[in-house]
Amino acid sequence: MAGDPSQILSKAGARPDAADSVARRLADIRARIAAAAPEPSRVTLVAISKVQPAEKIEAAIAAGHFVFGENRIPEAAAKWPAIKARHPRVRLHMVGPLQTNKARQAVALFDVIETVDRPKLAAKLAREMDELGRRLPCYVQVNTGEEPQKAGVRPAEADRLIAECRDTHGLAVEGLMCLPPIDEEPSLHFALLREIARRNHLSVLSMGMTADFEIALRFGATHVRIGTAVFGPRPSAA
Ligand SMILES: *Cc1c(COP(=O)(O)O)cnc(C)c1O
Repeated sequence: MAGDPSQILSKAGARPDAADSVARRLADIRARIAAAAPEPSRVTLVAISKVQPAEKIEAAIAAGHFVFGENRIPEAAAKWPAIKARHPRVRLHMVGPLQTNKARQAVALFDVIETVDRPKLAAKLAREMDELGRRLPCYVQVNTGEEPQKAGVRPAEADRLIAECRDTHGLAVEGLMCLPPIDEEPSLHFALLREIARRNHLSVLSMGMTADFEIALRFGATHVRIGTAVFGPRPSAA
């Protein structure tokens, strides 16, 4: 075994390269955040690791990064328990659409739920959090573009849902999240999310991805969710 040439090759070659490039990309993004954000120290980079292999996630952790996001429960369940067991500092954000029947798994696997978007889901999450003894911070996802195929509460219904999450279900609503339409100027969407947060006294704004995070930061983003710019292009299975 010790002399297996393919083992030696992969140890000496491929892995360190991948680790180097993730570390380099992270350093580059941190510099861009520092340049674009009014208060860089208040910004959290959520590295979106969907479809990326555990090796790249380990490379990011080795480079000192601990906040990640995933968008699918089965994938998160397969990848993250082992990584979290090795690295207790890691915090995992749920950023994908959440079915009510997966709420329990989500509460067990994740540390922040960014995609609360309807009363039934809020009620289920609150119940599971009680049962599991895990009170997770939640963000309400707003469908700022009112796209029919997209998750998120409609802007006109956001205030009511936020109040219901807090008052009826006792969820710890810390902020808002949005995913603007890909073919539209994102600024209007970021401004709308900021306004809904302001009038509901919410301090967290999760907005901005690889293509538009610098714009989001100028509109007050506190959390930017960046996948491609951290890990490189996603494997085509995405
Ligand atoms: C994939 C994803 C991202 C990251 O997208 P990139 O363009 O790769 O930075 C951010 N937010 C959500 C909800 C995603 O699903």
